[in-house]
Amino acid sequence: MQALAARVRRKAMHGAGRAMALAGILPGPRFRCPVCGFIGSFPTTYGANAPRRYCRCPKCGAAERHRLQRLVIERIRDRLPAGARGLQFAPDPMTPVLCGLCADFITADIMPRQGSIVLDMTRMELPDDAFDLVYASHVLEHIPADRAAIAQVHRILKPGGIAILPVPIVAPKTVEYPPGVTDGDGHVRAPGLDYYDRYRERFAEVELVTSAEVDQATQPWIYEDRTIFPNATATCRPAMPGERHLDAVPICRK
Ligand SMILES: [Zn+2]
Repeated sequence: MQALAARVRRKAMHGAGRAMALAGILPGPRFRCPVCGFIGSFPTTYGANAPRRYCRCPKCGAAERHRLQRLVIERIRDRLPAGARGLQFAPDPMTPVLCGLCADFITADIMPRQGSIVLDMTRMELPDDAFDLVYASHVLEHIPADRAAIAQVHRILKPGGIAILPVPIVAPKTVEYPPGVTDGDGHVRAPGLDYYDRYRERFAEVELVTSAEVDQATQPWIYEDRTIFPNATATCRPAMPGERHLDAVPICRK
């Protein structure tokens, strides 16, 4: 009951901030959303963990990671061939953008969802060398056998194909949780930047695009207190110092 009340309170606080941001009366710095073009303040989001300042675009709801990914997608546009075939795991706000990039585009999920095929990322019944683009945002941190999934993504990509597989960077160095342990977000590990070395084991080239090197007006950083970890719901998640955290999106080429 207390948890429900807290959730309702968080939603109300976010709703009020969103309404003020849309009305142009929310104090604070102004940003530009690269997903929908909104210009103005971004309200604080009150999630299950610590509040995230300047998190979501009040107009389209794009979070920090979506804005950074939107900028990365612009960088790969010219690298895809005409008639590109694309596959996205776990449809999200990037889906319409990715669909626009590919002549042939399908979405997939481990759970049945409208418009998606059901696919286990670690055992895909798809042919080799079939796709020009595979996209899976914030998926691999949920999968214990992540290296099997990375191998499968590599297998179904055409030579020269691109995989975009960002995970949340929430630790100074990657922490694998013990078997059966997850945190409050259902993650089986807390990835650090070193996590992307696992892609380097498989792919010919891995280029990282970070919050530090894109248009700062899009607010691509994560502002939240991570010194609250570990705690009762995330017993193995490490603390991270600082109030502003880097996000990073890898562009992998087969
Ligand atoms: Zn937006």
